[in-house]
Amino acid sequence: MASGNAIKAIDRESVHRICSGQVVLDMATAVKELLENSLDAGSTSIVVKFKQNGLEYITVTDNGCGITDANLETLALKHYTSKLRSFNDLASVRSFGFRGEALSSLCALAHVTVTTSTGAAPTGLLVEYNSDGVIQSKTPAPMTKGTIVKISNLFEGMPVRRSEFVKNIKREYNKCIGLVQAYALIATNVRISCVSQLDKKPAVTYIATSGNATVRQNIINVFGPKAMADLIDFELKLVEGKLKSPSNKEWANSDGEQEGGDGDDQDDDEQDQEIILTGHISSPSFGKGRSSTDRQYLFINGRPCVLPKIARVINEVYHSFNTNQSPFLVANLILPTAAYDVNVSPDKRTIFLHNERRIVEELRNELTKLFEPSRSTFAVSQAS
Ligand code: ADP
Ligand code: MG
Repeated sequence: MASGNAIKAIDRESVHRICSGQVVLDMATAVKELLENSLDAGSTSIVVKFKQNGLEYITVTDNGCGITDANLETLALKHYTSKLRSFNDLASVRSFGFRGEALSSLCALAHVTVTTSTGAAPTGLLVEYNSDGVIQSKTPAPMTKGTIVKISNLFEGMPVRRSEFVKNIKREYNKCIGLVQAYALIATNVRISCVSQLDKKPAVTYIATSGNATVRQNIINVFGPKAMADLIDFELKLVEGKLKSPSNKEWANSDGEQEGGDGDDQDDDEQDQEIILTGHISSPSFGKGRSSTDRQYLFINGRPCVLPKIARVINEVYHSFNTNQSPFLVANLILPTAAYDVNVSPDKRTIFLHNERRIVEELRNELTKLFEPSRSTFAVSQAS
């Protein structure tokens, strides 16, 4: 049918919209991107606010470095970033963002305004962007050092997405809360809070961490003291010593079918590595877990992410001690940035972990050792 049609480029604006819809899949992705920008800006306090559960607007307010006048011009242009200069920087990237496409995508999908101050001038600026990420208006506004990004009418230009969004708003909102919780748990030196306002009612605060705490204290602040009652603290050394570097072909394929030979190879590019999993997990003693896996938070170097194989082995080991329940879990995998790749999906939640198979097996051993003392407790409580 289309064989006779000329092949032509899609117009620039349409391409932008099509691609933006892939970067910002839902409200939770929008919130995640803004929250990460605030963290990258060195903030010590961040407030995420939802008006009408986010249907009307979302604001993320921080006390970070603010944005200079010059940077406001390019802030929301595609692939403009202050965090990465070239492909080679990817291996060492520690900031949450680096692709320079969140704000540009949000401009294509919502109405975006930014109020910001670097603290250099007595007032700040309120800037309104159009759907291309170009400044539409700029006016002075009272503002202390930091930034407020406001996203109104998310997906307004995409009728299908918007109607799905409206229909599923409760679920979307809950997903956002789960996401803010994840950052609030792991960020020990940033005060993170979440505020909801419906109609003209007073705003309600849902999450509030102190900004000067341990992960343990954050768990109490986010989930209440009961959540902490039966948690075991752990720090498991999974790998210590030589591992092949990712530049080595075998190493990059280590999760494939044929595992690189263990132990006796004399490759020049082996590097000293230390891989640690640290965090808190429910004791497998009977009655101490949860009925679902809904409260399991995994991080790589403090970045919330999805690690299905790691999650699976943790649940498997736990279930071998407690068949009835699943653990509450907050666990941070600490490893060199060169040992994993975050640039797998636009939302950066899927991670390519080099040597994953080895990590998973070590984790199985170490976790079993950790739980071993509770085996007798479990047997006793089951018998009674
Ligand atoms: P990325 O985070 O990948 O760089 P974004 O589109 O999310 O891309 O942001 C573009 C740039 O805008 C960032 O690199 C940063 O310099 C600046 N920026 C965004 N949000 C903030 C903020 N809250 N405070 C300070 N600078 C910000
Ligand atoms: Mg960003």
